[in-house]
Amino acid sequence: MAGLSDQSVPAKFQPENTPVDELALADIKSAILVKLRLAIGKEAAFATKHDWYKAAALTLRDRMVHRWLTSDKESYDAGRKRVYYLSLEFLIGRLFTDALNNMGLLPLFEAALGDLGVGLDELRKCEPDAALGNGGLGRLAACFMESMATLGIPAFGYGIRYDFGLFRQVISHGVQQEYPDEWLGFGNPWELPRREVTYNVYFGGSIETVDDGKGRKQVIWHPGETVEAVAYDTPIVGWRGQHVNALRLWSARAPDPLRLDVFNTGDYVSASAEQARAEAICKFLYPNDESAAGRELRLRQEYFFVSASLQDLVKRHLHSDGNLRGLANKAAVQMNDTHPSLAIAELMRILVDQHNMRWDAAWQITNATLSYTNHTLLPEALETWPVELFQRLLPRHLEIIYRINEAHLDRADATRPGDTAYRASVSIIDETSGRRVRMGNLAFIGSHRINGVSAMHSELMKETVFHDLNQLYPGRITNKTNGITFRRWLMLANPKLTDLLRATCGEAVLDDPTRLIKLEAFAGDAAFQQEFRKVKHHNKLALARVIGEKLGVQADPSALFDVQIKRIHEYKRQLLNLVETVALYQAIKDEPGKDWVPRVKIFAGKAAASYRYAKLIIRLINDVAETVNNDTTIGSKLKVAFLPDYNVSLAEVIIPAADLSEQISTAGMEASGTGNMKLSLNGALTIGTLDGANIEIRDNVGPENIAIFGMTAAEVVERRAKGLDASDVINKSPNLGRAIQAIETGAFSPDDPGRYASVGHALRHLDHYVVSADFDSYYEAQRGIDTRWRAGSAWSRAAILNTARMGWFSSDRTIREYADDIWGVPVAGDLPSTTSLQARKAT
Ligand SMILES: *Cc1c(COP(=O)(O)O)cnc(C)c1O
Repeated sequence: MAGLSDQSVPAKFQPENTPVDELALADIKSAILVKLRLAIGKEAAFATKHDWYKAAALTLRDRMVHRWLTSDKESYDAGRKRVYYLSLEFLIGRLFTDALNNMGLLPLFEAALGDLGVGLDELRKCEPDAALGNGGLGRLAACFMESMATLGIPAFGYGIRYDFGLFRQVISHGVQQEYPDEWLGFGNPWELPRREVTYNVYFGGSIETVDDGKGRKQVIWHPGETVEAVAYDTPIVGWRGQHVNALRLWSARAPDPLRLDVFNTGDYVSASAEQARAEAICKFLYPNDESAAGRELRLRQEYFFVSASLQDLVKRHLHSDGNLRGLANKAAVQMNDTHPSLAIAELMRILVDQHNMRWDAAWQITNATLSYTNHTLLPEALETWPVELFQRLLPRHLEIIYRINEAHLDRADATRPGDTAYRASVSIIDETSGRRVRMGNLAFIGSHRINGVSAMHSELMKETVFHDLNQLYPGRITNKTNGITFRRWLMLANPKLTDLLRATCGEAVLDDPTRLIKLEAFAGDAAFQQEFRKVKHHNKLALARVIGEKLGVQADPSALFDVQIKRIHEYKRQLLNLVETVALYQAIKDEPGKDWVPRVKIFAGKAAASYRYAKLIIRLINDVAETVNNDTTIGSKLKVAFLPDYNVSLAEVIIPAADLSEQISTAGMEASGTGNMKLSLNGALTIGTLDGANIEIRDNVGPENIAIFGMTAAEVVERRAKGLDASDVINKSPNLGRAIQAIETGAFSPDDPGRYASVGHALRHLDHYVVSADFDSYYEAQRGIDTRWRAGSAWSRAAILNTARMGWFSSDRTIREYADDIWGVPVAGDLPSTTSLQARKAT
């Protein structure tokens, strides 16, 4: 962000940068050199880039730890309520420049490392991405951690320290291959192992009910297996470095790692079998993004991290408050999706079995403490577990769930007497195909608040998945539209734009993103537009370089950069974008002399390893790219680039360079999206459906500054009800018909003409995601984009207005709403509050 002043930028669009303090500079330099010698054991002359990175990271960490201990003591002394954010995923990315920026040390470290002869940017790239998440859900957790620290909310993030993060994607001959992500291979300078913070987590065994002599039943669980959870803490520092919270990740190990007696008999493998079984729990992140992995190991992961986290927070509470009656006044536990919903049964077990609390009192505390964020309406993605598996792995928890369900079903019977269908639908136990525990229903019943992640998603929750439960517990469902941290997705990813914003909106824009609105006044200003375009061009040059290096494809930075980056999934409809690409390619070949808008179609994203159709779509994108990029008749009018191994760091390069943001999910299927927010904030126009947070983006940026197309959620439901055949629309659309025909007859796979027959068949006859049905509307919207692009100044104006009006989508705003409405915790009072443009319009 603190780029040196650029002579070519007019003074009024240049921010003032304070000069580096010489004393502080000398101090940082010597601190880094000391780390290099004492923590790494190297002389500067022999240090590798990696050694320098580690020395610099440790130097920075020291400075964070001081603030961390201060933050902790202050919250503790004040007896403040804490937030515990439970998530099986944290998609963090790199921390080095993020932490430097928030600590206000970026210019100082940049200068110090420069003096030491190593570039900060080179060192930055030594850090592997912490990819402990699949996509949006995990990235949300990472943005929330940063915003909670920024707002001074005492909080812990709880998750699993996976040995291997999300797989590394390699594209070989167009095919996705998965390789292990060894992110801990060179150690992790950010984390502090807390060997002393260890809890036993139990599985299996049997339960015994005894009379406690006072007429009350006492349940004792005799577990069959013990696993130890060990804490590893990563400090997360907020903007301006005032507050630091811990991300506490659990690693699993066996209490008895090596059976010496067995080892001595020569059976080396069996000697550590118990260790291998325990460690499997934190071995890797499940790559299944949208569908519940029906695997025992996954349930073990869920219970493992829930149990360790609850033991940890209960111990902390007892230490400060002495008893658990007031737990809900001092702790708010947020469950990110249903993965942590065992927390409901586990907290009941702790309160009732271990602390002899009465059931009703325990239930009241549990409900007041816990809340649940829903992320999906897709029925196949709602977690359920076979009762039989529960019985074997967590027998006491199953009993507790049955008891919760009993009271709950009594309530259902009282509300709708005799309505057995209603009873079956709200029950925690699904009896339709074998008996299964519904984690979504458990999470709903045990929480005082259930939130969706965009206005539309929360409304749909009330109408669909939780329709019946909402009747039984009215008022619990609330909306908290997702947000993103602007420190990472604007300041760090786009330093040139940030400089321009600081100069035009004032320095305070860094603290209060609603001040971006001041840009509105410059949206039509020719000089400002030119600066805005210069920034975009600079970022596009950088991306073009990456595309050239990785793919050998020449992307012209003056072309329209059309970007779709996200997990590959049928509902996200990369296929719709691709069919349009094919139709456009054919149209260009028909009339190569016409004045086409040059485009670079940029794709990136991973498909779950077991999701065959998504992997076929990746292959098709790459096959189409191969044909189009090598067709000399169309030259640079169209290029297609599939960038491999999408992750946070790649997103940080692509997003600032995007002109057009593809947010084209089948309406009703994307809960919110956050990629849409990152791109719009960075001055890309959105082409999108009325889905998830796209609707709120439209409401904020204005309908004239976004291209909406396609069916509404209601129209999708209506069309599906009439059947999935798409012959009707294909017969009416020659563009679509011709594109499908090329794909299905092997125009892009001449070596294997039948490769995409199944894709053609789906487009024609199984159009569940309304790709064919939405095609014409999408194609037309794209031609509208072409027209707007040609009128350069109008495009720039719309792009500037996107940036200007995205302030509301800061995750600071989202976290304020959680804090007010769900957690009941105050936030740092010195920052001005942000109000929704919508809210302002409405009043
Ligand atoms: C923001 C982000 C996502 C979520 O993208 P959507 O377009 O909302 O699905 C996924 N992966 C990474 C690496 C991200 O940064």
